[in-house]
Amino acid sequence: MPVPAIPDHVRHMLADTYGGTVRNTAYVVGETCDVCFTPVYGYTRCRPCSAHAGQPVADRVGAAVYAVEGEQSHYMMRLYKQPHPDSDSKFVVSLLLWNALSTHEDCLNRLTGRPPRFWATVPSLPAKPAQRQHPLNMIAQAIAPGEQLQLIAQPTVAPRTLNADHYRSEHPVPGEHVLIIDDTWTTGAHAQSAALAVRAAGAEQILVLNIARYIKPSFTATKKFLASHPRRDLDPMQCCWTGGRCPD
Ligand SMILES: [Zn+2]
Ligand SMILES: [Zn+2]
Repeated sequence: MPVPAIPDHVRHMLADTYGGTVRNTAYVVGETCDVCFTPVYGYTRCRPCSAHAGQPVADRVGAAVYAVEGEQSHYMMRLYKQPHPDSDSKFVVSLLLWNALSTHEDCLNRLTGRPPRFWATVPSLPAKPAQRQHPLNMIAQAIAPGEQLQLIAQPTVAPRTLNADHYRSEHPVPGEHVLIIDDTWTTGAHAQSAALAVRAAGAEQILVLNIARYIKPSFTATKKFLASHPRRDLDPMQCCWTGGRCPD
């Protein structure tokens, strides 16, 4: 299925109504991680991304916005998936994903040379018995490109560790391009474990799109970054894949 085009007026509404509560992710050389956009002054990568680098993780990671601990953006990413979410959180998360997938659809295809054949969302870890459908999966079903690939979470895992056995792909995907969608990237262990599982199923290209990159102002680099880059309203045209301009 192709991504339904986001109408201009919906994109404008996202920026006008909710743009003050979220900020775009940014890739700034020497200031943010070149994988996940977390502030890391003086390094090219944050510690988790450096540790993951030796393994066949995702070819590229994108993120639409930062979820800043203690700010509205952080609560939004937690509230939208509650059993009874406030309608604004679920609406904004849906619009952020729709904008990332639609406005930046050509960017994704340009980075990989072809559209994804499959998309998958990252299930909660460990797997829960009789798990309800994850709200992110529900949102993605309406707008994600290609066919859905189910990832099956394992019942017992060590949390926050990178492990290809944490998930299993429902079927092999030899040579395919798979887009993995996740809501919040903290250390990246969940999304990158999902990438390893999809890679083990034979995928050739794997991109991970996060709605939000979680950052903590209690970390010195994050505090410095937030202070030196004053908040601007959300720009839906800023690229979730590059943290800046869309790729040529
Ligand atoms: Zn990183
Ligand atoms: Zn773009």
